[in-house]
Amino acid sequence: MENGNKNVLKPMDSEQLREYGHRMVDFIADYYKTIEDFPVLSQVQPGYLHNLLPDSAPDQPETLEEVLDDVKGKILPGVTHWQSPSFFAYYPSNSSVAGFLGEMLSAGLGIVGFSWITSPAATELEMIVLDWLAKLLNLPEQFLSRGNGGGVIQGSASEAELVVLIAARDKVLRSVGKKALEKLVVYSSDQTHSALQKACQIAGIHPENCRVLKADYSTNYALRPETLQEAVSKDLEAGLIPFFLCANVGTTSSTAVDPLAALGEIAKSNEMWFHVDAAYAGSACICPEYRQYIDGVETADSFNMNAHKWFLTNFDCSLLWVKDQYALTEARSTNPEFLKNKASQANLVVDYKDWQIPLGRRFRSLKLWMVLRLYGSENLKSYIRNHIKLAKDFEQLVSEDPNFEIVTPRIFSLVCFRIVPAENDEKKCNNQNRNLLDAVNSSGKLFLSHTALSGKIVLRCAIGAPLTEEKHVKEAWKVIQEEASYLLRK
Ligand SMILES: *Cc1c(COP(=O)(O)O)cnc(C)c1O
Repeated sequence: MENGNKNVLKPMDSEQLREYGHRMVDFIADYYKTIEDFPVLSQVQPGYLHNLLPDSAPDQPETLEEVLDDVKGKILPGVTHWQSPSFFAYYPSNSSVAGFLGEMLSAGLGIVGFSWITSPAATELEMIVLDWLAKLLNLPEQFLSRGNGGGVIQGSASEAELVVLIAARDKVLRSVGKKALEKLVVYSSDQTHSALQKACQIAGIHPENCRVLKADYSTNYALRPETLQEAVSKDLEAGLIPFFLCANVGTTSSTAVDPLAALGEIAKSNEMWFHVDAAYAGSACICPEYRQYIDGVETADSFNMNAHKWFLTNFDCSLLWVKDQYALTEARSTNPEFLKNKASQANLVVDYKDWQIPLGRRFRSLKLWMVLRLYGSENLKSYIRNHIKLAKDFEQLVSEDPNFEIVTPRIFSLVCFRIVPAENDEKKCNNQNRNLLDAVNSSGKLFLSHTALSGKIVLRCAIGAPLTEEKHVKEAWKVIQEEASYLLRK
């Protein structure tokens, strides 16, 4: 016990941080510099890491060198390189120097900002930065924090959806009585992200009351207001209670945009909560020429976009705005003795713990603030426009090749395309497109993903990685064409 202090761990030694921090930043900078040397999609087999790492944690410390060697030799082969300029799968998940620095600062401060008092700056910066972004998106006044509304950072669009669904559920149950839960009905198109289904399961919405309304090629997969109206009328006749509508601006499959104004009118006249999911495409709406896609958002009760997709803010940073913050806090507010404090008691402040599922929360607004300050909105607009232009170029290349077709019109930076069916054989065509996807992705030269639209297997090329340039898009198309011509010759 006498020497107890000598060997005690010093996990926050400033000089060690300085030294190791420099080395880690160098490591990451080198990674970015050489990122094109890796296969974009990791090619390892399930369980690969088990054989490479020991069965138990080390008793004694190891060196940073040893750890970084393992990162290089054992971890990176199992990494899919989302920041690669040839990553075109799903939707992008942007990192940036500004976002990275904000993340680093947040890790460094290490605060947990659940109530205002636990770090006033964390709450206040979040409110300010979300107001800034609401203004860039030209969201209606009611979403700003000076009235009853305001923005909050959630971990993901899925969480944002769950938070508003529960707020809407409890709001309607307060007026019709708790026993009506089994009568509550949720509406969305069949193109809506599966996050809504998950949220309904968690919120206890009866599965037979989730209306997944058909949207097809005739509207480019947007939900028709008439379809919604029909479903709502039918449910009302059956004595059910329509209470929640989720509309999309930029669906995950094909960037379909639902007609917000018309849908919102129906939601309003039936006293439903109207949520708008613009997880990916919301970023584009800071450009005046794309703002039209969220026209009608003034009829919404809540609006969500992921700054961690296409807005240079490192994962995770999902932005949710609501018009009525009290709907959120009434559904979630708890006030145990151990969290009581004067500012909260006096209702002088926002306590974000009541706007989300968990209690603890990170200082995530720092990274968004740094992105906005270090880049400025003009650069962010050009950044978005450049990706959209690259997507337009890719679309052009595809449409010039008779072996391929564009499946849905491109709106933002996602191109949905496929090999055309020979002799109208859709089944064979689907197999060819699946095989093409596999061949392209196992080349390691790029990574695409797919979706199904009206039974057609469709390839998705989502442009939006921060390092992507024209040459990467051209190269990607060359690889796709080569693999396709090889497949079609067979
Ligand atoms: C990506 C996406 C989601 C899910 O986002 P998470 O933040 O991963 O939960 C939801 N909706 C749409 C339209 C998306 O594109």
